[in-house]
Order: sequence, then structure tokens, then C-alpha cells
Amino acid sequence: MKIAILSRNRRLYSTRRLIEAAKARGHEVQVIDVLRCYMKIQPGQPEIWYRGKRLQGFDAVIPRIGASVTFYGTAVVRQFEMQGVYTLNESVAITRARDKLRALQLLSRKRVGMPLTGFAHSPDDTEGVMRLVGGAPMVIKLIEGTQGQGVVLAETEAAGSSVIEAFRGLDAYFLVQDFIAEAGGSDIRCFVVGNQVVASMQRTACAGEFRSNLHRGGTAKPVEISAAERRTALRAAKIMGLNVAGVDLLRTQSGPMVMEVNSSPGLEGIETSSGIDIADAIIQFVEQHARPGRTGTRGR
Ligand code: ADP
Ligand code: GLU
Repeated sequence: MKIAILSRNRRLYSTRRLIEAAKARGHEVQVIDVLRCYMKIQPGQPEIWYRGKRLQGFDAVIPRIGASVTFYGTAVVRQFEMQGVYTLNESVAITRARDKLRALQLLSRKRVGMPLTGFAHSPDDTEGVMRLVGGAPMVIKLIEGTQGQGVVLAETEAAGSSVIEAFRGLDAYFLVQDFIAEAGGSDIRCFVVGNQVVASMQRTACAGEFRSNLHRGGTAKPVEISAAERRTALRAAKIMGLNVAGVDLLRTQSGPMVMEVNSSPGLEGIETSSGIDIADAIIQFVEQHARPGRTGTRGR
């Protein structure tokens, strides 16, 4: 097969591993910087151009779309879809998952466990929305934040109000969420490929921090997940319509709570802690599913 990996940097661990795994299985791979793709939109013949040449002949696209390029990146993925090229994660699914509010709304309809979450526009409703999630302590998070950026723990309602005021001042939308103290600064990342959780790890925040992101100094170790956690991770990925996803869960007495579903989950932490060749699992999934004309995102 001829596979395109949409990535801004071929030296990133995840990109390198996907290139290696694809080559090892006999595929031709090209790494494409989405921001250098430009497109011609016209009746019946959607085109994508790259550094002066038309891109053609790909059997599959593996999108690795960073949070800072979601809009442009998903437009490029969509343009491939318009040509009938198979994309591992489709543009609609990536967009759904990237917006934490939209993702939680869709998950809530399917009764997937999650921390109580509130959303409000008007400063007049700050107190009301804080009440809805049970008051302090609470977590306030930017809707399009990633790697723990813009995720703040407010221990009191006064602290909560000032964080909310600051986010409003930046014209940024945010969620207000019940703080799940019981999770003890740990979360569980389930790496989903198709109908399987191929690897999982527990991430624990460093001292004095509640966010367990590895980019925030969190540490990872392999973890056995329960049947309920496995089921929840698979359902969350399916509801988003993602074939490959990193589903982040908090472990609680009342069952798993989904925090977010990542559509371009990193491979480094999880391959290192689990010893599992996830890149190979992804390439095998692409081999089994890439067919021309097979687009149309499922998910709810
Ligand atoms: P990001 O997309 O930036 O990783 P998350 O919503 O996943 O944002 O939050 C980052 C981390 O903060 C999580 O991995 C988790 O450890 C912690 N966290 C987030 N929300 C909560 C919550 N409601 N209760 C307890 N911890 C939380
Ligand atoms: N079919 C989904 C719905 O009606 C699409 C929503 C979405 O993509 O966010 O909710």
C-alpha cells in the first residue's frame, strides 16, 4: 500500500514508529506536513497539492493532527475523504473528540460515566454552573486545551470564580467539572485500535500536581484494566467514531469516568511502559480496513 502519514515532523517518536512499522510490513510511506497541503475545490475533482505537486495514488491516510492545527488539519483529512481515500480516523470523528464539550455531550447521551460537567456562557451564571457540579473543589478546563494546559483545580468557589473570570477575559470557552479526588492524581490511558484496547497505562501526577499528563511530569506504568474499563474505553472510541483513540479514564468506586478521547494519541509513553508494538497494530488495522470509497463516519 501507499500510506500518507499526516504529521508536522517526521522525527517525532510516534511518526517515526509508524514509518518503521509500515516499512517493515512492506508499505510505501510518505510523511506529509498538513500545513503545506493546499487544495483545489471544484465539482467532482477535489485535489490536494503539496510543495508544488499534486498528491495522488494513496491507499490510506494516517492523520496525526496536533491540537493547534485542528481546523486546517481536519480540512486536509476531509479533502482526502472527498477523493474517497481511506483515512484511519475521519475528519468528523477528530473534530468531535477534539472539542471536549461536544465529546462529553455525545458520551452522556450513551450513558458513559464521566465527572459531572457544567457549561455556561454568561457571567451571571457562574455561581449557578458551579452549583450544578457540586461546588468546590472543582476543575475548570479550556475546551480545546491539551496536555493538561488550561486545566485548573479550584479549591474554593472564590478561586473558581476568578479562574472563570480570567478565562472569560481571554474569550475562551471552558468546562466546569466536579473534582474526582478519589482518582488520587492518577488516570488510565486506554489505547484503542479497532475493537481492542491494545495497551493501557496508569499515569500518576508528580508531587503537588493533580494532572497526570506525562508532559506535566506524570509517570507511567502498565496497568491491568477491569472489564468495565475496557468496555467503557471501546464504547467511547466508537461513539466518537474513532478507529484509533487514546481514552483517558478516572478509576472510581462508581465505575470508570471518561475525561477525554484523544484522536492522535502519542505512542512513546505507552509503547515504552507496555512494551507493546502499537505502531504495528495500527498498520495491521489499516491493512485490514483501507478500501477506496469507504468513508462515512459512524459514531453518534
Ligand atoms: P488534557 O486534554 O489537557 O489532558 P484532561 O481533561 O485530560 O486535559 O485533564 C488533564 C489531567 O487532569 C487528567 O489526566 C487528570 O489527571 C486530571 N483531571 C482532569 N479532570 C479531572 C477531574 N474532574 N477530577 C480529577 N482529576 C482531573
Ligand atoms: N450523528 C451525530 C449526532 O447526531 C453527529 C454529531 C457529531 O458529529 O458531533 O449527534
